Amino acid sequence: MNTGDDDIRGHVVLVMAPMGSGKGTIIKHALQKFPTAHLTVSCTSRAMRPGEENGKHYHFVSREEFDQKILNDDFLEWAEFAGNKYGTLKSEIIPRLKECEVVIVEIELQGVEQLLEILPRDHMTITYIEAGGWEVLKERAIARAPISEEDLTARHERYLIEKQSKPMADVIINNSEDINIACAEFDQVMEAAYQKCK
Ligand code: 5GP
Repeated sequence: MNTGDDDIRGHVVLVMAPMGSGKGTIIKHALQKFPTAHLTVSCTSRAMRPGEENGKHYHFVSREEFDQKILNDDFLEWAEFAGNKYGTLKSEIIPRLKECEVVIVEIELQGVEQLLEILPRDHMTITYIEAGGWEVLKERAIARAPISEEDLTARHERYLIEKQSKPMADVIINNSEDINIACAEFDQVMEAAYQKCK
């Protein structure tokens, strides 16, 4: 896809992290501190989880609707992950980058690899949020709510895939001890992203 590289003036902060790493809290904190930043809302074919809102957490669509959007060339990137499809709409990112905005994009590895092919590298910062190893994440999941052995196994498989994205990161944020420190580290990434906007 031709994004018209010369028109891209803003900056994309990509966030990759295993489930349960605290990325939601860290991003929420950053959006309060940087109110002009935009968190993209992806499309997904997966079912809505309790507490999620359509249009806020995701645009929840059927598989057929998702496939139609692929045919319409609406996505900048899309991928299949854990049996569901996820995609970032061009309309969520490109106009904002042309307007020199900072955009936070929370996606998995296959999506990041696609964006690396499309967007100019100096307009992207790849972050990975680390929250300790599987034992830590497992304890957190068990402490939060009752979880079946089957779900725990699925969660572990997912963790093994998600942690493969770590070597791609420009910045690794450590959220294994103090969430305030992790938030401050992410804020620094945001600060730098604003400075790189032209
Ligand atoms: P979940 O189902 O837990 O919300 O997300 C599963 C994975 O899909 C997470 O790693 C999340 O970052 C990723 N994801 C969410 N939206 C997108 C997207 O638009 N594109 C891609 N490639 N991955 C996404």
